[in-house]
Amino acid sequence: MKLTMKRFSELILDVFFPNQCVACNKAVPMDMVFCEECAAKLEYLPETPWQAMFPPEINGAHPSFDYANALFFYDGTAREAVLNFKDKAALSLAAYSAERLVLKLESDGFDRIDLVTSVPMHRSKRLERGYDQARVFAEAMAEQLNVPYDGTLLGRRRSRMAQHERGMSERFASADKTYFLTDPARTLEGKRILICDDIFTTGATLDKCASLLKKSAAEKVGVLTICLTDSFGRGESAGRLGGDPFEKGSSPKPPH
Ligand SMILES: [Zn+2]
Repeated sequence: MKLTMKRFSELILDVFFPNQCVACNKAVPMDMVFCEECAAKLEYLPETPWQAMFPPEINGAHPSFDYANALFFYDGTAREAVLNFKDKAALSLAAYSAERLVLKLESDGFDRIDLVTSVPMHRSKRLERGYDQARVFAEAMAEQLNVPYDGTLLGRRRSRMAQHERGMSERFASADKTYFLTDPARTLEGKRILICDDIFTTGATLDKCASLLKKSAAEKVGVLTICLTDSFGRGESAGRLGGDPFEKGSSPKPPH
């Protein structure tokens, strides 16, 4: 078989920098994101209308966002992949998710987006981790949609406790105090904005961010995550996670 230059360079890369499955780190061919075993265990959200998978109310009120969707349930392989979301794996998981989610946005009629932003990560945490997973995913979405990524709209105050260590009511109170508009005078009038994050858990954070953008007169705000915790008891697979992911000490724990 005659090797093309591209294939040849891929082979060289395979030898020195083996491509790894984003969930289990097993070596896989360059064009693969998940190994076969992990891919077989991925749990994609069903093709039901998004409203059937997301809570009708957040903290007792109608959500501030107009649209929500995610690619996977936060379970098994996808959970491993998101927890393993670093460096090269972050880029391939973000690109893989963005390629598929852009099709969902199109079929749901939420693809006329003016700009993409992400749930902000505090600078100290970004320095500690070396990357911002929500931003990596948001940039991949912006590329798929061919619109700008703007990470300057929302700010985040330092929070002492991680979201996953809080109970539900604490999460809402904390999200309310943690996020803010970096420039309250800036108008987003007529803009359709997509906010990206890695996991939709209670929706407290994404709802708060959406409400801030609405305060700046954004016309429509959609929220998009790689994973959704299957905790609302309304999806086909309700109850799969076991335990109450809203409560302290329950398992599995999202990273925030
Ligand atoms: Zn794997």
